[in-house]
Amino acid sequence: MQISYARVIIDISHEKVDRPFCYKVPEHLLEKIEVGSCVEVPFGKGNTLRKGYVIEFMETPDFDPNLIKEIAGVKTGVQVENKLIKLAHWIREEYGSTMIQALQTVLPVKQKVKQKENRILLRKCSAEEAKVQAEICEKKHQPAKARLLKAFMEDEEIPYTLLTQKFHISVSTITSLKKAGLVEETSELMYRNPLKEQDVAKERNVLSDSQQKIVDDIWEDYEKGIRKTYLIHGITGSGKTEVYMALIERVVAQGKAVIMLIPEIALTFQTVMRFQRRFGDRVSILNSTLSAGEKYDQCERAKKGEIDIIIGPRSALFTPFENLGLILIDEEHENTYKSESMPKYHAREVAEELARLHGASVVLGSATPSMESYYKAMSGEYGIFTLKERLTGGTLPKVYIEDLREEMKKGNRTIFSDRLQELIRDRLAKKEQIMLFLNRRGYSGFISCRSCGHVMKCPHCDVSLSKHANGKLVCHYCGYEQPNVVNCPKCGSKYILGFKAGTEKVEESFRQLFGDVSILRMDRDTTKNKDSYEEILSEFMEEKAQVLIGTQMIVKGHDFPKVTLVGILAADLSLGVNDYRAGERTFQLLTQAAGRAGRGKIPGEVVIQSYQPEHYSIKKAAAQDYENFYKEELLYRTLGGYPPVSDMLMVQIFGRDEQDGMLLGDKMKECLKEFSVKNRMTMIGPANAGISKINDVYRFCLILKHKDKEVLKEAKKRLEHYLGSCGIEGKIVQFDFNPMSSF
Ligand code: ADP
Ligand code: ZN
Ligand code: ZN
Repeated sequence: MQISYARVIIDISHEKVDRPFCYKVPEHLLEKIEVGSCVEVPFGKGNTLRKGYVIEFMETPDFDPNLIKEIAGVKTGVQVENKLIKLAHWIREEYGSTMIQALQTVLPVKQKVKQKENRILLRKCSAEEAKVQAEICEKKHQPAKARLLKAFMEDEEIPYTLLTQKFHISVSTITSLKKAGLVEETSELMYRNPLKEQDVAKERNVLSDSQQKIVDDIWEDYEKGIRKTYLIHGITGSGKTEVYMALIERVVAQGKAVIMLIPEIALTFQTVMRFQRRFGDRVSILNSTLSAGEKYDQCERAKKGEIDIIIGPRSALFTPFENLGLILIDEEHENTYKSESMPKYHAREVAEELARLHGASVVLGSATPSMESYYKAMSGEYGIFTLKERLTGGTLPKVYIEDLREEMKKGNRTIFSDRLQELIRDRLAKKEQIMLFLNRRGYSGFISCRSCGHVMKCPHCDVSLSKHANGKLVCHYCGYEQPNVVNCPKCGSKYILGFKAGTEKVEESFRQLFGDVSILRMDRDTTKNKDSYEEILSEFMEEKAQVLIGTQMIVKGHDFPKVTLVGILAADLSLGVNDYRAGERTFQLLTQAAGRAGRGKIPGEVVIQSYQPEHYSIKKAAAQDYENFYKEELLYRTLGGYPPVSDMLMVQIFGRDEQDGMLLGDKMKECLKEFSVKNRMTMIGPANAGISKINDVYRFCLILKHKDKEVLKEAKKRLEHYLGSCGIEGKIVQFDFNPMSSF
């Protein structure tokens, strides 16, 4: 083909330029330009030079050739990958956004920074000495020091940030070991392999028969050229990661690269070291503590072929590997795999498209698979494997379900059931650790009038204000603050009372009942600054407190072997929310929370307190019975026409003016009327969103449902076209396919 014209997308973030412009490719550049090339083009009336991306070539221009301008030059060094551009195009079509937004999502941040110096701790004694010292510290009940020394039995150098942020070692612990002359601090260039060559690949377990079967089956397909998605359903500790590593090894041996997605919170020191021990400096890690420049460096290393494996959160999907063989998604049910900003893509779906572009396979793993994935596995679209046994030792905990209505009848006015109280006393006496979990993020104390029922609300948002320990009333959505009120602003009554924020209240009641116990509390308020989350967990790990009270943040990621009792205070709070995923999320949370008990040598117990103890999410979670949970939940989704049985598109409308917002919703519905009748597409709304106002912006939603996603995509296209024709900006209307959270 004689290439002489190219469609170019201009790299400026404005909706109006979200369409390709046609340019002539000058002869001297013909050889240098390809799809994905970054080029400079004259743009607008003043012909200012703008940067753009070639997304396609054409033989004939789509308008008057005499008016077409020429590409001015090619920018080298920032060549974007052809496949990533294609992927961006797919994302745009699939989820709705501007091409620029899609490109910005997939392209590495082009921002080169000076390599950052990184602090590293070096072991200054022999491995044997570290072992001896670790044992001494254990005897002296200095668990943090012991843990640090144990880490040094394996490795001679460990990055400082890994220790403090991921391994929960406090600075004071490190300092005291430095003073003792056991470790020394040094600084090294980032990304140096902290491990010596000979350490690499020494850690290897012989796979169990069921693990080996999974690897062999997937590999058999792979070698036959079959590419598809597989789901490994296995509880935590059942050996999934070991399977991932065996697969990675085979794929890498064939010269292909691997992307492994993992929720940020699960990127623990242990996981990182485990992969580094196995794959040495061919593996690299992305996480949110890296700066944009550092992330870009990682991308460069991937492009140059210096690494084969990248581990990171959903954005790691866009690591520019030339030749991808495998994408793994661990804990595939996690909400964080869905992007909350435009384009609102789901990492699992994007991974499948990316795998298609590269001819790669996809492997998903989870203890509580998403309804979507399990549905596909049951329909035969995905291969499915199950791992049943926990290899980490520890037995499954004993689970009690306590009916809070019965407690009420018995006259128990506390938030702790009799059984939970009894078990708490037992653990306090035995000096074992306890985790108390309050299952709801937004469950915080609101202020209301006992006379007229008036609830204090944020003037800018449709949410109630929460009373904080400092006495102020705070909005969790926009940060608005005001002093507490003495009299009701509506009726003047002085009986205006606050209920303490959830976890604060739990702490107070706990102290009233059980006296002076060391308690740590983890919720949105205690973890406002970035490191406090890690600090609280370190302290709990170091047994500086016997009790940890928290929201869902405490159920993920970390193993606390001394925890032998987990109390779930009100398991059904998350069931009440108006969201079709509530049952699924409750099941996942309870299963995870229950799994926190008995990770060590001592068996654990779990108490689930609930007002709806007969609810299947609660019963099946207590029984750790995924299959039957799935069956019941699927019935509910089928009856309601919810994903995965039906697809759903939520059109989100934002408006400064309440009436305009609603009107726009009506107009959009009108414009789809004929289409929806013809295709039998369900339309619900427009209606006020669950939270009808945030930060003075009104929110509405229009919901479209259909069994065939293509119909919804077509509807979305029509809406985009309509909005474009009325000049409505992308910020006012957003699309969310199969939303993960209520709106
Ligand atoms: P998961 O990813 O399902 O949580 P892991 O792969 O992390 O499970 O395995 C849990 C623990 O069991 C790890 O400590 C791992 O080293 C160990 N393990 C896994 N597979 C084997 C095996 N085949 N033999 C011995 N130990 C194993
Ligand atoms: Zn009042
Ligand atoms: Zn507010």
